[in-house]
Amino acid sequence: MTFDPKSMSCEEFQSQMAELVGSGADVANHPHIQDCELCRRLYEDLQTIADAARQLLADQQPEDNLWERIESAIKKGD
Ligand SMILES: [Zn+2]
Repeated sequence: MTFDPKSMSCEEFQSQMAELVGSGADVANHPHIQDCELCRRLYEDLQTIADAARQLLADQQPEDNLWERIESAIKKGD
């Protein structure tokens, strides 16, 4: 194995962090975060923002509304 996550730079890690979070990876236990307080704080900030966004989306339920609109558009097309 040539890739060592511990030796990656903060820049490299941060460029992948959103993708890792989005993919459901266990970012809190990522070797870089275990060693790097800066990135750990950034990750905590990202989690706070993500939680706030989820609550906002849960209140508005845009996906349900979007699906209803798509569904009615399909039915009209029949
Ligand atoms: Zn770092």
